[in-house]
Amino acid sequence: MTDRYAVFGNPIAHSKSPEIHARFAAQAGQDMQYERLLAPLDGFAASVHEFMRQGGKGANVTVPFKLEAYALATSLTARAEAAGAVNTLSFKDGTILGDNTDGVGLVADIVVNAGQAIAGRRVLLVGAGGAARGVVLPILDQHPAQLVVVNRTAPRAQELAAQFDGRLMASTFDDLQGEFDLVINATAASLAGEVPPLAPALFGSHTLAYDMMYGKEPTAFMRFAAQQGAAVRDGLGMLVEQAAEAFFVWRGVRPLTAPVYQALRVQLQQQ
Ligand code: NDP
Repeated sequence: MTDRYAVFGNPIAHSKSPEIHARFAAQAGQDMQYERLLAPLDGFAASVHEFMRQGGKGANVTVPFKLEAYALATSLTARAEAAGAVNTLSFKDGTILGDNTDGVGLVADIVVNAGQAIAGRRVLLVGAGGAARGVVLPILDQHPAQLVVVNRTAPRAQELAAQFDGRLMASTFDDLQGEFDLVINATAASLAGEVPPLAPALFGSHTLAYDMMYGKEPTAFMRFAAQQGAAVRDGLGMLVEQAAEAFFVWRGVRPLTAPVYQALRVQLQQQ
């Protein structure tokens, strides 16, 4: 019987996950189907339980349900625990394993695809929301020389840093000094066409400026960083890599991501 998977969100029509997983399944010869499921804003848990009753094997979870998915899981991986949010669920014998693949997806895109080492480098994480929180542990696992978090609402950066025993330092935009090797924009500022208040001197010719957001055009953050001489990259690769990690969690097979990334990039340009 064909194994069923789904992505839950609200809204969900825009999600590229079904296409990504269909491409992975075809490539890896896996007999599975993957659908979009719109969960009511007050009905996420009921929707997941119904899908489980129908024999669903696993699911991805996107905005705004990642925290609810964390609460719904009957057990959690260490990386989901550290993220405080879940984007990947696996169902087995009535149990729900919650995982989070966003962080390893980001790290894979930076280290493997972009070829930018994190080990021994100065890394700046901009933002302290769900996306930022989810990537801290996978970045720390790469042993950066320094990981600093900065956020528009400064106390949120301090709260996040406090969870990582001195391995993550909180700063304010005004107190940041020196060039960073990697600047990750994990804020929603790009959605509004805005750039967080980062001084030009934080970027240099060896800096990679990474925006978790993606689209047809470079984001305002990417344009600003490029003006300072930095290399830039958007979050499309992170999207594909977090999906590949979820696919691996479910199927035990690691799909090739480069052809899927290329296909999505071409589609974005044609929109
Ligand atoms: P949250 O709502 O949890 O957090 C939003 C963050 O952005 C907060 O730190 C907030 O600061 C900050 N922010 C919002 N607007 C501005 C602004 N105008 N200037 C400066 N900072 C701002 O959102 P998420 O963390 O879930 O998502 C953040 C981004 O990451 C989104 O754009 C999302 O699309 C992207 N993302 C991409 C993924 C991928 O696979 N490529 C995966 C997950 C997320 P404050 O605390 O002050 O409000």
